[in-house]
Amino acid sequence: MNSFIISSFLTAILSIILGLFVFLQDAKNKINKIWLLTASAVFVSWISLGYICLSNSPEQALIWQKILYVGAIFVPIFLFNFCSIFVNSEGRSKILLFIGYIFASFFIVILFCTNLFISGVDNITSIHYWPVQIGILYYLFLAYHIFYVICTIVVLYLARKNANGVTRKQIDYIFYGALVSIIGGSTSFLLDFNISSYPMVGNYLMMFYVVFVTYAILKHHLFNLKVIATELLTFIIWMFLLVRVLLSTSTRDQIIDGSLLGIIVIFGIFLIRSVVKEITQREKIEKLATDLETANVRLTELDRQKSEFVSFATHQLRAPLTAMKGYASMILEGDMGTMADEVKLGVSRIFDSAKTLTNIVDDYLNLSRIELGTMKYVFDVLDFKTLIEDIVAELKPNIEKSGLKFTFTAENGDVDYRITADRDKFKQVIENLIDNSMKYTPKGSVALSLSFNRPLHKFVFMIKDTGIGIDPDVLPHLFAKWSRAGNANKTNIKGTGLGLFVAKEIISAHHGTIRAESPGEGKGSTFIVEMDPWGKM
Ligand code: ADP
Repeated sequence: MNSFIISSFLTAILSIILGLFVFLQDAKNKINKIWLLTASAVFVSWISLGYICLSNSPEQALIWQKILYVGAIFVPIFLFNFCSIFVNSEGRSKILLFIGYIFASFFIVILFCTNLFISGVDNITSIHYWPVQIGILYYLFLAYHIFYVICTIVVLYLARKNANGVTRKQIDYIFYGALVSIIGGSTSFLLDFNISSYPMVGNYLMMFYVVFVTYAILKHHLFNLKVIATELLTFIIWMFLLVRVLLSTSTRDQIIDGSLLGIIVIFGIFLIRSVVKEITQREKIEKLATDLETANVRLTELDRQKSEFVSFATHQLRAPLTAMKGYASMILEGDMGTMADEVKLGVSRIFDSAKTLTNIVDDYLNLSRIELGTMKYVFDVLDFKTLIEDIVAELKPNIEKSGLKFTFTAENGDVDYRITADRDKFKQVIENLIDNSMKYTPKGSVALSLSFNRPLHKFVFMIKDTGIGIDPDVLPHLFAKWSRAGNANKTNIKGTGLGLFVAKEIISAHHGTIRAESPGEGKGSTFIVEMDPWGKM
């Protein structure tokens, strides 16, 4: 036995094992069936090739030679059929397939019934026997062979151009594999013309092809090379043990090797199954991850669109609200003449509602700006203490109406309260905090204080109230988007849960900090803002 014979047998065995293996994955699948037929034809050709070399007489070699041609006749048409199904062009290839099968049947008849195909074998050095006495119809067979190989390549090439993703990869495997096998397969034909002075690489190239196509098919079914490798290894061990059982001379050896084979078969099946399961799961997870990624991209886009819409809508709402607030305020201040008390009450309700709505609209507008990253700051130097005093003055009517004890103390002395801040935005934060403390304090007091912490070199602004307080569980999430404590909801005080989120964003942009403290529900709360003095930011 030389390496040529061994590689012939190996090609044949590998081909039939992989053909069967693919077929057993899903016996009903058309692709798997036709691949089994193709692999069987390869098996017939290559097993015969091995036996031709081992033949003892020209007669025996001729029989094997004819069997070889049974495979060789069917390989191209099966292959063409397989590729047509694989790339979904079976319908278009129908006529060619029909003609091909007619030709194949015709060749089989003339091969066995006449001498027009091959009439005898000869002894050639490298392979021992080979059919050098070829008949006239052999040339027709060659033409048929070349024609269907070209058809296969064309079908694959066209499909390859239009495919993408996994399908493209599969077709690539088959396409390049086919090219390799054609080069390999064609080397065998040269022998027919008594040309044998070249390396006999056909067998090895054919092996590649079988593996390539099998991989391509299995890839389709979410398997991969790891599974094929495991299965091949297992099959090889089984075969090795089977040969040992068959070759064992003593009963004792037969029992030992047989039992070993039994155990290895069972373990092998379990091993293959577990690898298949693991890979299927992994592929599923990979698919889920891809789906998730796509969904995430889509969600991000939707989120952006939502923010844009909110930004647009709130912007449109702001102008009429400002007008409502302005006119209501003018009427209340008597700029438009005197009015009855009932009218005044009505207008003050309109004013309050317009103000609440403006705050809500501002919250949404700020949120969308933060999410879109379009929040713009215009920094200026301003006096922190004066700013609070101005706000307190503006809120005076509300403070008086609330009936709360309201105080503001600032550490005086030689403190310079200048900070660097965006006036409007910073003011909005402080207003919001004072507004909250009044909102969430039904009775009692609200105390504001401003001081300079010398060791930390920071201004500390505190708003301490005796209101509904904050549950310690809620405190860590208080500055998150949409965060509202349970007790805030219960008090029937309307809010968006956005004010503190926006406040934190704005204060962070000022390189300051904001935090809340509370001993618990019903025990009041303190909000603390710390800012760097001017010149440090
Ligand atoms: P809103 O007041 O619109 O609900 P905020 O973001 O301003 O939204 O406040 C978030 C939550 O923090 C409030 O719903 C409330 O539960 C809590 N909170 C804020 N300020 C106080 C306060 N002074 N006392 C008690 N709870 C407060």
